[in-house]
Amino acid sequence: MLNRRNLLKLGAATPIAFATGGIALGHASNLPVFGGKDYSPITGKERTAIPSACWQCVTRCPNISYVENGRLVKIEGQPNSIRTHGVMCAKGQAGVNQTNDPDRILHPMRRVGKRGEGKWKRISWDEALSELAGRMKGLRDKGEPEKFMFHYGRMKASHSKLIKSLFLANYGTGTIGNHTSICEAAKWTGQEMCFNKHYDNWDFDNTNYVLNFGSNVLESHTNHIPTSHRLIARMAKNDIKLVTFDVRMSNTAAKSNEWVPVKPGTDRAVILAMCNVIMSEDLYKGEGEEFLKFVRTSSVGDEPVSAKIATLKAHLAEYTPEWAEGVSTVSADKIREIAREFATTKPPAY
Ligand code: SF4
Repeated sequence: MLNRRNLLKLGAATPIAFATGGIALGHASNLPVFGGKDYSPITGKERTAIPSACWQCVTRCPNISYVENGRLVKIEGQPNSIRTHGVMCAKGQAGVNQTNDPDRILHPMRRVGKRGEGKWKRISWDEALSELAGRMKGLRDKGEPEKFMFHYGRMKASHSKLIKSLFLANYGTGTIGNHTSICEAAKWTGQEMCFNKHYDNWDFDNTNYVLNFGSNVLESHTNHIPTSHRLIARMAKNDIKLVTFDVRMSNTAAKSNEWVPVKPGTDRAVILAMCNVIMSEDLYKGEGEEFLKFVRTSSVGDEPVSAKIATLKAHLAEYTPEWAEGVSTVSADKIREIAREFATTKPPAY
């Protein structure tokens, strides 16, 4: 049963639920520092190095946080990280500002003026939790627990399970807002509808050809640093080809071997036409042919591969490059050229 005592216990067990993000320093002092030193430019004294992880986005890049006089003053990549190779993005390094932000909310505050008036009064945790528990109980007693919205910044792993799967589920609300709601939720939704999963990561270390539809992977992407760093490393060796379809010349498009502008919302027509080329010219044959056994071409799903190929060819026949040119403005010749390149450069990534 939810009461003030239980809520207090839960609050004490999960302090991160009340945080808005920033860097995670909890327990970090128990971990080894793998390298990296930093010195105060004023006193010349070595700063305290604390291994930690960046929470500025979902990637959690390992870092070293440097502390001087009890204050975080600098964040650097963890040089021994196999994920990030010691690199962090500018946003991650700017996490210093978030931690030291004078407007960061560190205590419960109650609004004492009109909405928008900006008048707040600091209250104790006891007051805040009692009020919160009372309001939540009121909603549940009225049979309207879903009117309680849990809004948070970042919360992962056991914290997330404890709050969402246990506390909120038992309370009776699935009304949740979080950082992702205003971040990559649109991408997740699109990918879940297209691929049934939403976390995309490419094996750039072992790929020779990248066909990119609309991802600005070199500037901003889920798992940004590990992903972009691997792609850049291959591009620097000049042994990978990156072809980007995008409505605008993003930073990734500008750095690609080829940027193909496409009319907004018509990427799928180009992809269908490429599938048409690959199937009609039998370019699927070879190493990739094995994968066709996983394709479902009917509700039965266990036909022989030859039947699946015949169904696919028949289905794709109408989606010719000429048809796609009319929809997308990408020329039929260009669609054919890239489809052939993509199908014959092994291994490719999409
Ligand atoms: S990609 Fe950037 S913001 Fe995200 S965790 Fe890594 S350093 Fe932090």
